[in-house]
Amino acid sequence: MLVYLAVGDAYGAGFEYARADFVARHNDLNGYYQHPKHLGIRPGMYTDDTQMSLAVAEALLNNPRPTPLQWADHFVGAFRRDQREGYAQRFYDFLMTVQDGADFLARIQPRSDKSGAAMRALPVGYLSTPQQVLEVAAEQARLTHDTPGGILSAQAVALSAHFLLRGGPKAELPDYLEKQISHSWFDWRGSVGSAGLDSARAALTSFQRHHSMHAMLKECIAWTGDVDTVAALALGLAACSQEVARDLPQVLLQDLENGPFGSDYVKQLDQRLRDRFLC
Ligand SMILES: [Mg+2]
Repeated sequence: MLVYLAVGDAYGAGFEYARADFVARHNDLNGYYQHPKHLGIRPGMYTDDTQMSLAVAEALLNNPRPTPLQWADHFVGAFRRDQREGYAQRFYDFLMTVQDGADFLARIQPRSDKSGAAMRALPVGYLSTPQQVLEVAAEQARLTHDTPGGILSAQAVALSAHFLLRGGPKAELPDYLEKQISHSWFDWRGSVGSAGLDSARAALTSFQRHHSMHAMLKECIAWTGDVDTVAALALGLAACSQEVARDLPQVLLQDLENGPFGSDYVKQLDQRLRDRFLC
């Protein structure tokens, strides 16, 4: 899951809120692209979506029911060991001044309805029951996104990952999800805004419409807007399903960053999640 999430994130980072003509010209999956404005994120680098998903995965491996302080320690720890751009500016500025998890909890104003809680929620899908997934997805969301949209979007993507990881048929996902969380998740159209519900709906729509990672990634970027989050979520979900062809160009897997917390580290974390929660 996490390595494809990282590929979607890194590929999408070249196109986040970029102009539609730039997207149309370059969205060919032939490699990673330099974003025309975000020069601190080089081609092949992932962003906040992946870094925070790693933090969630590590928190769950440490304790399947993390306390607020444990969540906060993991969020702060993942950022401090490997500081990078790509976070929303205010949250980035906040993280730069935070000392540790306790300081994070004391000073965070968790009222955002943007995509931060959903973008990191896929690993929660590894937990063993739908009830646990819904509760833990909400608990991690409340640290930063204690709003209906922030929480619902995180629950929707985590529960979808859970259903697929446990062998749920892709065609039955809409019924399953909409019965548990009453909302229209699979009918997204148009440019994707910063709200968590936008990203979750766009990702679920692209995931459901295609049986190929290649087609899915192309469409996620073509939506335009907050596309790194959409692509990260859609490819992360795709990796949970046996019914989606893993047909991305090899160059995207090869050129994903591979520093201390890059490709090899992410793959190893994927393996630890599978060993811990699916065996
Ligand atoms: Mg991002």
